[in-house]
Amino acid sequence: MKTRKSAEPTITRDLTPGRTACPHRARPMWADHANRRTVHTLAGVTRLHLTIRRCRTTACGAYKKPYRPEVEGAVALPRHEFGLDVIALIGRLRYAEHRSIPEIRAHLLGRNVVVPERTATNRLDRYDELRATSLTDNGRLNTVLAAQKEVIRAIDGLQIERRTDPEGDMVRVNPGPS
Ligand SMILES: [Zn+2]
Repeated sequence: MKTRKSAEPTITRDLTPGRTACPHRARPMWADHANRRTVHTLAGVTRLHLTIRRCRTTACGAYKKPYRPEVEGAVALPRHEFGLDVIALIGRLRYAEHRSIPEIRAHLLGRNVVVPERTATNRLDRYDELRATSLTDNGRLNTVLAAQKEVIRAIDGLQIERRTDPEGDMVRVNPGPS
């Protein structure tokens, strides 16, 4: 079955990084280029116009590293088509109100948000995995994550933050935005 063609954006937001200086050398960081993306939120289909800054100090460790608008992260996760408000609502309908996936999609449709069935299913599968792991077996999670060196953040709506202490075995798991 073919899903309905994506609606045209009805909302436009211009976002610019609040940070104007490179964090490494505190030198001014100029607007480098513009980017845009479309996100489905509860308020409507939103077109984000993003100003991306880059450090242009060649000697800086962050030379040419792009800085995106901080606010963007509160709207949607990177590369996600749906806003965090939609993701949070799906989770609430499922776990607080115990709705089925067809019911969740119908509810969202009533709010003019079209979520393909596969997207809703994948989303809930991911919630289930992370919830099962974080709620029931922190010890196992610690073991799994201990193999990884980097900080892992914001995996599909749950924030998992790992901080390595000198002994290398501290793991913190935070519930994500609800
Ligand atoms: Zn710099």
